[in-house]
Amino acid sequence: MAKRFYVTTPIYYVSDVPHLGHAYTTIVADALARYHRLRGDDTRFLTGTDDHGQKIARLAEAASVSPRAFADKFADAYRAAWRALEISNDDFIRTTDPDHEATVQDLWRRMAEKGDIYLGDYEGWYCVPCEQFYTEKELEKGHCPVHKKPVEKVKEQSYYFRLSKYQEPLLAYYAAHPELIQPEVRRNEVMAFVRGGLQDISISRTTFQWGVPVPEAKGHVVYVWLDALTNYYSATRRPALAGFWDDDVEIVHLIGKEISRFHAVYWPAFLMSAGLRLPTTVFCHGWWTVDGEKMSKTLGNVVDPLVLSQDLGVDAFRYFILREVPLGADGDFSHEALLTRYNAELANDLGNLLNRTLGMVHKYGIVPKSNIDPFDLENRVSRYSKHMEELQPSRALEELWTLVRKGNAFIDEKAPWKPDAPRPQILGDVLELCRVLSHLLEPFLPERAVEMRRQLGLDEPAHFPSWQSRTFAPTVATPLFPRIDDDRKKELLAKWTPKREAPPASDEDQITFEQFQKLDLRVGQVLSAEPVPKAKKLLQLTIDIGTAKRQVVAGIAETYRPEELVGKKVIFLANLKPATIRGVRSEGMILAAGDEQVVALSGLDRDAAPGTKVR
Ligand SMILES: [Zn+2]
Repeated sequence: MAKRFYVTTPIYYVSDVPHLGHAYTTIVADALARYHRLRGDDTRFLTGTDDHGQKIARLAEAASVSPRAFADKFADAYRAAWRALEISNDDFIRTTDPDHEATVQDLWRRMAEKGDIYLGDYEGWYCVPCEQFYTEKELEKGHCPVHKKPVEKVKEQSYYFRLSKYQEPLLAYYAAHPELIQPEVRRNEVMAFVRGGLQDISISRTTFQWGVPVPEAKGHVVYVWLDALTNYYSATRRPALAGFWDDDVEIVHLIGKEISRFHAVYWPAFLMSAGLRLPTTVFCHGWWTVDGEKMSKTLGNVVDPLVLSQDLGVDAFRYFILREVPLGADGDFSHEALLTRYNAELANDLGNLLNRTLGMVHKYGIVPKSNIDPFDLENRVSRYSKHMEELQPSRALEELWTLVRKGNAFIDEKAPWKPDAPRPQILGDVLELCRVLSHLLEPFLPERAVEMRRQLGLDEPAHFPSWQSRTFAPTVATPLFPRIDDDRKKELLAKWTPKREAPPASDEDQITFEQFQKLDLRVGQVLSAEPVPKAKKLLQLTIDIGTAKRQVVAGIAETYRPEELVGKKVIFLANLKPATIRGVRSEGMILAAGDEQVVALSGLDRDAAPGTKVR
């Protein structure tokens, strides 16, 4: 039975180029959309960019461009990446699109009419990288629990949304709709959070203007998350997705688990307030590490999906990330494993099946026709469908590979090359299997599936296979996935995972980030400097560190004269255990370059106030 299906990715923040995480969500969504189109479902697929927010305003300012120009550049990068990765989205929404802005204001008015918005004074903590408010309780030693960095104190007039009013309605809805939040582990987390008590949330800001203006409230812009979440709905008021917020539509929001609260608590509450339906499912997927380590720019191990796709083919990259990890779990992106799966599963299993089948069909000159099903196709295909309906593409692929391996085993067992073998029937059956696979693989390998059908002589777009066997005229076989030999493998690994600069260090030599954070480094300004009696290497300094003045003894008298130092700003370690040196108490340390002999004092390449944290 055909249905209406609508799948979304989060709209991506325009502060970063597309990396593995973005590509993963988008490829999974694409596979789901393609699967539903294959089934004949009326399907829509949406992605886009989140252009607004304080972080973008600041980054644009630092880059001396307008926020709009700044956002445009990244939106273009996303569009190009999705084209390269065979992403079949029906629309690309940006929060700066005028029709989206109008819908945000419309939603705001509906929530206000419901009596759910009121004006108050906000005083609290905000993490700009998160674009999120935090309560005192949620902070970890005054730092953002996600970024582990200091948050900003915000004190301004703000509109509030009565989230507290929706605590019970949400819990009732979760209980009645277990499919809303998936997987189970995230559902439990979210429910525990809501049961713990919901507080009203601030939904407007006045200290910057890069956002959607709050209707009838000069100076206020809509909180970036309310703005962003609305994209899923506002897109359905545009031509490409018109009507896809209707009650009969299956709506799936695919997200990373770090934003489950916004999608599973705030968004449903906003929708309830506005009198709109809720999504069918918010599915939270896991995180990727890269070769066993957290992916980070600092480590230099950020996976560029476009590079991998160019080197190995877009379908090989898509296959790996869809197959490697069950949706919802965390996974490791291992470059070795990518190449291993490529050779074993794509080149050997699938590529070989098609290649040898077509080769034999040509050699034996047989026109295949078959009426039996030695592969239990019908059963396998219904399991494949079930996995896709349950948002488990990795399981669906496992099902398909069971079929691929059965096909190869069937050829080995029936040995059509033997003179007395019933060749027409054997090859007919395997060819039929290849035909079905060329359709069912379409969601995962959109480019190679077309090539399979071309080689099979099937001049048709992918659709859910009918069980009537049909005649077709196979053409010449060329390898679907050329094998990667050891030399090429080494070459690719060297390119993808360049050796890091840092010398190998034993665990004892390394400190953790937490240990480093214990150092209280700050900007210090030298207020006075004088020699220490009977110590020709030492100077006694008074340092202003913002909150206090400190006296220290420094071994710099052979490099600097006291009068050169007054007024200088240096990096100062404020929490060094005090010591008495030549009878003078020293409380802290100024940082300087040089081993035995100091060569230069640490400094700042721009001015900063005494006491400014150094990290
Ligand atoms: Zn943060």
